[in-house]
Amino acid sequence: MRHYPISEAKKNIRTTLGTLEEWYVLFGNCYMCDHIGFIDRWLLASKLGKDCRIKALEPRLRCTMCGNRMHNGFCITKQKR
Ligand SMILES: [Zn+2]
Repeated sequence: MRHYPISEAKKNIRTTLGTLEEWYVLFGNCYMCDHIGFIDRWLLASKLGKDCRIKALEPRLRCTMCGNRMHNGFCITKQKR
């Protein structure tokens, strides 16, 4: 049987606005037009609470370029210092 690093996968699922390390920034990626928009994670955390899971927010993303709400996803990347 193939071994999958389930604990790695779980880490991602359980990531909340509060547990995401400070030096990571969030972007939303549009499924329709590939637009990538910056998302202010601190603003999100203050609105929705820091216990909100990032995965749970994906269906709520809306593209600021084309208005698409379907199948959008988050990109998480490290901030440049
Ligand atoms: Zn779009």
